[in-house]
Amino acid sequence: MIQYANNYDVIVVGAGHAGIEAAFASARMGAKTLLLTIYIETIAQMSCNPAIGGLAKGCLVKDIDALGGEMAKCIDATGIQFRILNRKKGPAVRSSRAQADKKLYRQYMTNKLLSEPNLDVKQAVVTDILVKDGAVIGVECDTGYIFKCRSLVLTTGTFLNGLIHIGDKRYPAGRANEFPSIHLAESLKRLGFEVQRLKTGTPARLHADTINFNLLEEQKGDNPPEPFSFETEAITLPQVSCFIAYTNEHTHQIIRDNMHRSPLYSGVIQGIGPRYCPSIEDKVKKFPDKNRHQIFLEPEGLDTKEIYANGFSSSLPIDVQIAMYRSLVGLEKVEFIRPAYAIEYDFVQPYELFHTLETKKIKGLFFAGQINGTTGYEEAAAQGIIAGINAVLSIDNKQFVLGRDESFIGVMIDDLVMKGVDEPYRMFHSRSEYRLLLREDNAEYRLLDKGYSLGIIPRSRYDRFIHEKTLLEDCLGVLSNIKVPYNSKTKDKFATLGVNIEGSIPLIDLLKRPEVEISDLLEFFPNNYPDRILNQAEISVKYEGYIKKQKEEAGRLQKIEGVKIPDNIDYSKIVGLRREYVEKLNKFNPKTLGQALRIKGMTPAAVSLIHVYIKGLK
Ligand code: FAD
Repeated sequence: MIQYANNYDVIVVGAGHAGIEAAFASARMGAKTLLLTIYIETIAQMSCNPAIGGLAKGCLVKDIDALGGEMAKCIDATGIQFRILNRKKGPAVRSSRAQADKKLYRQYMTNKLLSEPNLDVKQAVVTDILVKDGAVIGVECDTGYIFKCRSLVLTTGTFLNGLIHIGDKRYPAGRANEFPSIHLAESLKRLGFEVQRLKTGTPARLHADTINFNLLEEQKGDNPPEPFSFETEAITLPQVSCFIAYTNEHTHQIIRDNMHRSPLYSGVIQGIGPRYCPSIEDKVKKFPDKNRHQIFLEPEGLDTKEIYANGFSSSLPIDVQIAMYRSLVGLEKVEFIRPAYAIEYDFVQPYELFHTLETKKIKGLFFAGQINGTTGYEEAAAQGIIAGINAVLSIDNKQFVLGRDESFIGVMIDDLVMKGVDEPYRMFHSRSEYRLLLREDNAEYRLLDKGYSLGIIPRSRYDRFIHEKTLLEDCLGVLSNIKVPYNSKTKDKFATLGVNIEGSIPLIDLLKRPEVEISDLLEFFPNNYPDRILNQAEISVKYEGYIKKQKEEAGRLQKIEGVKIPDNIDYSKIVGLRREYVEKLNKFNPKTLGQALRIKGMTPAAVSLIHVYIKGLK
């Protein structure tokens, strides 16, 4: 083995969605960073759907952007259809989603990484983690090189012992036709990590010229498209449509007739799959009363004929796949470019991690992304930025943790670390207790100053944000101070909206009414405010009561969150604390009473016993 001449502060293994954000965060914080990945051409590969964002995931992307990450800017530069989901529902569940041109997405990220100061990018397969005195010191690669570092972030996705299934055909791979990571998986087991198996799947990619789009429902994007990043002024790529097809009774019969040939149902696949992204055979089995399922046909880019069949993932043999795809109206003559497949892979139970994503076993070793049992690009990227930040901070014994009331990232990491996973974890709005605080529109208000303090957000962006904050305060002041005059014109105007006014009335009081929007009030005050400020002002006013209530609840949680559990506590000494709780507490090693309460199966009564015991120690 040859030791590479340069020593690095941080090494990141894997240039998928987690690894990229980890590497950017680390390099932008000024740490000398190395990114190692199996194949340069597949940096930022979208292994499955060609889309970023979606319900709750959109908020993760905005939060990554507000901390100084790259995902939002990349999708803005390479997106070919943008939609706001739940637009008519409240702001707490409004979510951005965009289709990407996959090739452009990869190119954007690759070029950005290769031109980032403080960052080296190299193609190599990492085969071993080097540890000395309980702390990571570097990695060994298949090229014969050893790279030394002070912190290491592993983001190996589905590659650890990856095994692809198409019917009864099986072969080891990290992703279709890419090497799996075998030696690294062994290295993790040798280091004592609890490794388990999960499974995921992807649909076939179809040739656009063999689809009769005239028979399908067209789904257009929003016009104008709204960018993800608070920094992007406009979307510039041409925008395209998606199409909706439907399975039918015939499709379901083909699947039922061949269920015994699915490795999922014949017992060959042992790993548990994503409940919320099921394969078509799963859907047919679990929902026998449904006579059709929606399939979204999504272009994979502007200059490719490949169409992604969203909702149609499968591990059935290829002859069955073709028969079932061709049973759909509009797809009678469809040809595959790539078949659907399922993949099983190793992951490490995330309760082996601290909230910083550092492993409890080895100092300086961090895990992020699918290796922690999550699924999705956004979940991976969100963990990546946190692991990258903490990999740098840990060198000086510092840390950065987001609370459940600060970001969906905080919710996700807390769930992972305190509960572990028994199926692939994806983000949902319902996972958060404080949905009204964690909105897409206020991501910068929640996180930008943190990104700036960490040195990831540049001064110019921070100054722009401070200016916006001042504008918002000014706008709220104007809404409080200016009144709508009372006359026949204003009386009639608001009567048509369903609001009776009986005297002049402050704008803010009218805006609190559900029937009135800020656009109805613009004529009554000097409006020099950008739309973003008006939107922010409207949400703050309309939801003031609910937001206040959630902030108070978050404050109450902070109180028990603030009660620290001593490192050397012996839970077996707590009188009345059942043995099963003692075992759980030893396994999850909570740092505060709040964390203890969130361990799966823990009761408030058990946590009170710990509280009383801690008080008695003082
Ligand atoms: P990845 O994006 O997988 O990146 C891993 C990186 O690590 C790669 O760059 C690889 O080259 C590198 N690497 C691995 N081992 C080594 C090594 N030893 N040395 C150096 N580099 C290494 N998500 C959904 O939300 N919904 C879905 O339906 C869905 N279906 C999927 C279906 C399939 C078949 C696959 C493969 C993935 C699917 N995903 C799905 C998951 C989604 O692709 C991942 O969640 C996301 O890409 C994970 O990001 P990551 O950064 O953790 O890993």
